[in-house]
Amino acid sequence: RLAKESPRKIPIPPGHTAQSLEVALRDLAEILGQQWVKFNDVPLIDGDYHAVPLSHDSYHILDPDDLVPSAVCWPADTEDVVKTVKWANKWKVPIWPISVGRNLGYGGSAPRVRGSLVLDLGRRMDRILSVDTENAVCLIEPGVQYVTLYEHLQEIGVGNDLWVDVPDLPGGSVMGNALERGVGYTPYGDHWAHHIGLEVVTPTGEVIRTGMGSMEGSECWQLFPYGYGPHQDGIFSQSNYGIVTKMGMELLPNPGGVRVFMAAFPRREDLYQAIEIIRPLMIKKIIGNVPMFRLGLQDASLYKTRDDFELDERGIVKPDSLKKVIEELKTGEWVFYAVVYGPDEITQAKYEYVKKQLGQINGTKFYQREDVPPEHYLHNYAHYTTGIPTWRELDRMKWVPNASHMFFAPVSANSGQDAERQSNMCKKRMEEYGFNCLDTFFIGTRAMHHVISFMYNRKDAEERTRALACIRALIDDCAKLGIGEYRTHLALQDQVAKTYNWNDGAIMKFNEKIKDALDPNGILQPGRSGIWPKEYRGKGFEL
Ligand code: FAD
Repeated sequence: RLAKESPRKIPIPPGHTAQSLEVALRDLAEILGQQWVKFNDVPLIDGDYHAVPLSHDSYHILDPDDLVPSAVCWPADTEDVVKTVKWANKWKVPIWPISVGRNLGYGGSAPRVRGSLVLDLGRRMDRILSVDTENAVCLIEPGVQYVTLYEHLQEIGVGNDLWVDVPDLPGGSVMGNALERGVGYTPYGDHWAHHIGLEVVTPTGEVIRTGMGSMEGSECWQLFPYGYGPHQDGIFSQSNYGIVTKMGMELLPNPGGVRVFMAAFPRREDLYQAIEIIRPLMIKKIIGNVPMFRLGLQDASLYKTRDDFELDERGIVKPDSLKKVIEELKTGEWVFYAVVYGPDEITQAKYEYVKKQLGQINGTKFYQREDVPPEHYLHNYAHYTTGIPTWRELDRMKWVPNASHMFFAPVSANSGQDAERQSNMCKKRMEEYGFNCLDTFFIGTRAMHHVISFMYNRKDAEERTRALACIRALIDDCAKLGIGEYRTHLALQDQVAKTYNWNDGAIMKFNEKIKDALDPNGILQPGRSGIWPKEYRGKGFEL
């Protein structure tokens, strides 16, 4: 359809006019097939998690028409991706690959530069290429979702033996999430750490395989990650250095038993002592998964909306009202969800040990599945920790009307002092801006992702502006103390990148050198993670 006939004007990327873009996109349609290229002239409808639009960020924090592509294309295979990359270099059109586009809370399917072409890899490149049941690994394409991988393992009869680490919601891409360094709940909860081998199309259209995949005839691509010489994989996560077309993933062998439990702590101050107790349990691997330490209010948001509580004039839940709900739901000011794995004799002993340690905190209550009603989140948690997809986390997306959220996700040491400092600081700042602080610590071996669900009404422009201002203030607050985020929304990537500033920002200078060497025309995801190609640098694109 011609731009002038369009119901919505097609966003034009830098350096183009409507006419030049149309000529370029018609050329792409010739290359990929007419039905595989579509102009983004559709109304911006937010949809929901199950129907995420490719037209814009459905959880928009800026104006919905700010971070929008000019068009979307659907490559069928690596060869099509190469052709599209070469096309982008020829016409100098910025491109933005997505695997599934459910990066909700971090920008959804949207590109950073208005008018980019979105490559929706997942729609046609969605094959599970192999499952090696003996070695517990698989090779996948971008469109493989957690739920489809889970179902595939069931279908081929190995679902009980090999588990997929699922995050909160299973409709995301196994590859897209790992590239973002997302997290789940089993011992394989650090998704990037459990990928093994990549196939990548570079910004100039070469195809490489990393690790053992770089050797003709090797059968160890999904078994040994490094190969020989420098290990390149790291530069392809959270970056704009390549388009990943295949990825190996480790599957978790069934550990032969599981004991899931929850500990509820009565006081906010218990955070300090609890994390101090949990640290050695993690580092010694007594707790075997990525457990979570969640604020009682955050837990309650799975069952209640904000309006179910008594609020003060800023919209903050009153402490007495929270107390009543905590009693009603039988949770705590903080709740700790964790799991120990292995045969019964082992899990029984480990559970008793963990209980003894955490039981040092006065008033701590312990629950297993048999102690809680059927609607209790602990049952969903039991699914997550055994690799079974659940959609339960969508329940919290009713907290406010038209609820969207951004994640504010700083990293904390596994230390009571750090956790308490971060949690109190974030609560104070968020309440000042009129937001309830809903935080969870996802606990790794030595550090935690402190993930705050920043809920706002996306149809209320004032609330969006306030939410953005608040997160910006939080990023600065944290940076002053040397606290950095592990991942952030598109609109905040420049700010967060600047906080990684040791030695006069040496890391960004290094990133820019790599960018300029690999992507001389600056076509691939300009601005991702704050890395701008030279044509864009210092020209007002930063947010
Ligand atoms: P995509 O949107 O496809 O991609 C993510 C990013 O990677 C994009 O920037 C994209 O440009 C880039 N990318 C994707 N594929 C490629 C490729 N092939 N080559 C190069 N670059 C690529 N996240 C978690 O990690 N853990 C959670 O527990 C979690 N819980 C959530 C709960 C709720 C209620 C919501 C709304 C979101 C949650 N998220 C969570 C965030 C998000 O939904 C997931 O991380 C999701 O998996 C990311 O979307 P995706 O997999 O579709 O990736």
